[in-house]
Amino acid sequence: MIRPADDPIWERIYPPNHFGCRAGVRSLTAREAEARGGVSPLPPGLEVPPGFARPPTARWEPDPAKYPPELWEALQGKLAERIEIGREILELRGRVSAREKDQILRGLEGLRLSRWMEQNPIRTLEIASNLAQTRNRMGDYDRLTQSIRLLYPRPEGSWADEKPLGQLRAVSTKGSSALQAAAITLVHEFGHHLYEAMREETENRLFARYIQAKKEGRFVSLRARDGVLEWFSESLAAHRFFRRDFRKFDPATSAMIEDVLARLR
Ligand SMILES: [Zn+2]
Repeated sequence: MIRPADDPIWERIYPPNHFGCRAGVRSLTAREAEARGGVSPLPPGLEVPPGFARPPTARWEPDPAKYPPELWEALQGKLAERIEIGREILELRGRVSAREKDQILRGLEGLRLSRWMEQNPIRTLEIASNLAQTRNRMGDYDRLTQSIRLLYPRPEGSWADEKPLGQLRAVSTKGSSALQAAAITLVHEFGHHLYEAMREETENRLFARYIQAKKEGRFVSLRARDGVLEWFSESLAAHRFFRRDFRKFDPATSAMIEDVLARLR
């Protein structure tokens, strides 16, 4: 069969087209194609089983449904684009080692929003060892300056909480170390930035889900009870770090967050 190189049919029948398929593709010049009789009609009944016929130009996107949740989680870490200071986060302040910085940023990288973040960067990320103005908070987001402040290292008792989702003070207290707790807090604060930026598009939808979660008494943490903003940030953090448990705890919110993120990617 001879078909033009830019024929969309190649998106459906590029070999291998089934197990044990021995078909191949050869490129010809226009003159060579003419010498062999030119473009031929498509044979009827071209059916390719799912998973085959991927032309080399097709972009690969992993399908979350095909992975066990733990593996998906690990894969996302591997696939994550690195967040760069100066691009997705314009400025980093505070004293942490390169290793600590990488660990703290990893949670954010796992959201795979770096393209979106380039358009909507965090202006400053300040990692401090005491946040004088934030009573009882491990971080905060300032919407006017689009800046995040994180408390790190965190005080004893503000992390490694074994309680299940729904009974936590805040999702970040479930972190297994001060470092992981800081990574979770960063995703929480980033949630405020995200919510702020997409307010118009999704607020109604998110708000409706918040009201529903409230009716169901399905708040992932105490902090999530403080209103729709805290609820969204806490849910985002739970979805990012404790996906499997969160999916069980609040499947509707988990699915909605996944959908919101997918659209921004
Ligand atoms: Zn918050």
